Amino acid sequence: MSATNSFDTVCIRGGQDADPTHGGILPPIYQTAVFRKKVVGEDQPFSYSRVENPTVAVLESRLGDLENCLPAVCFSSGTSATSTLFLALLEKGDRVVCSDVVYGGTYRFLAEVLGKLGVSCEFVDTSDLQATEAALQKPTRLLFLESPANPTLKLTDIEGNCNLARRFGALTVVDNTFLTPVLQRPLDLGADLTLYSTTKFIDGHNATVGGSVCTRSAELREILVYHRKCIGTIQTANNAFLTLQGLKTLPLRLRQQTSNAIEVAQLLADNPHVKQVIHPDLPSFPQGDLARRQQKSGGSLVTVILHGGLAEASRALGALKLCTAAQSLGTVETLVTHNATMTHSEVPDKRRLQLGIVDGLIRISVGLEDPREIAADLEQALTFAFQEVCHA
Ligand code: PLP
Repeated sequence: MSATNSFDTVCIRGGQDADPTHGGILPPIYQTAVFRKKVVGEDQPFSYSRVENPTVAVLESRLGDLENCLPAVCFSSGTSATSTLFLALLEKGDRVVCSDVVYGGTYRFLAEVLGKLGVSCEFVDTSDLQATEAALQKPTRLLFLESPANPTLKLTDIEGNCNLARRFGALTVVDNTFLTPVLQRPLDLGADLTLYSTTKFIDGHNATVGGSVCTRSAELREILVYHRKCIGTIQTANNAFLTLQGLKTLPLRLRQQTSNAIEVAQLLADNPHVKQVIHPDLPSFPQGDLARRQQKSGGSLVTVILHGGLAEASRALGALKLCTAAQSLGTVETLVTHNATMTHSEVPDKRRLQLGIVDGLIRISVGLEDPREIAADLEQALTFAFQEVCHA
């Protein structure tokens, strides 16, 4: 695919020929552990499915085309993409600077697992370029950014941070799960690597758990592929096939889900039980200028701070009739998450509250149902949750 093809085309046609042998429209699922050695002593593209697999390779080349880079490296989950990337690029004594608001599992791996292996990490408010610059004064191997941040939707100036990292000799990784390359292009803004939980928008149908990393550096890609082989974190052929199916409608889904999210956000802003509605496309969003400069649109996540706390939030989630209370995002079904007890339950309370992940915060990943029906369900759940409190 040429770099001039639109996302709509690349998501459907990108990457290598799906089935060069028989011309199947869909790629075959190479459900095999091992490939026959044709000539002993000679390299061949596929030998063992822990190392590389032809179905996974189709997904990798399509994701690479989407980001105008080398074929992606696909993993068994977003978390195995993150952990393999860290283990591949870091060694004892290295230091990481990471956005203070990140997916809870990324925090856990950096703080708990890498800490034990002698890699230190400083969590910094990367939305403040001066804070990043101060943190980079100490020798740093990796700057890890998440923007928009999970779940507060705080934005980080990716280009500004990448310029700083380059000046101080650090590599920059951006977790771009929330927007995907369709809405935000970190490699074009100077990042060395982008990372995705493909479980979310890229699959989009709650059918798989997967991850990927993209880069324009052949050296970095080789290091990642080597470590994926060593650690055993490749994606399965079946999941790659399903992810390719979901990927075809990614731009279409994002357009409609974003439009639904704005409608739901506007309706919730008038709800008496809602203290604050956060969405980058609302006029009230404090980083609107950065959002317009850096992202094609605000995406389909809406964060809501309720007037109540844990009791009201959990009653509201329990009262949902159409939307689903669940710990994920980015799919065609509207999912509602209580981050303090779900995605960020392992972040110490004091730190979690400092970051704004309060007990009354719920994150809504707006799906493809009718937005008026989504909003009506959320409103009836809030009415129920707050009525219960009054009777108690
Ligand atoms: N990155 C972000 C921003 C996430 O939200 C998640 C999961 O919620 C992950 C990474 C980890 O992905 P996975 O659940 O596929 O391991």
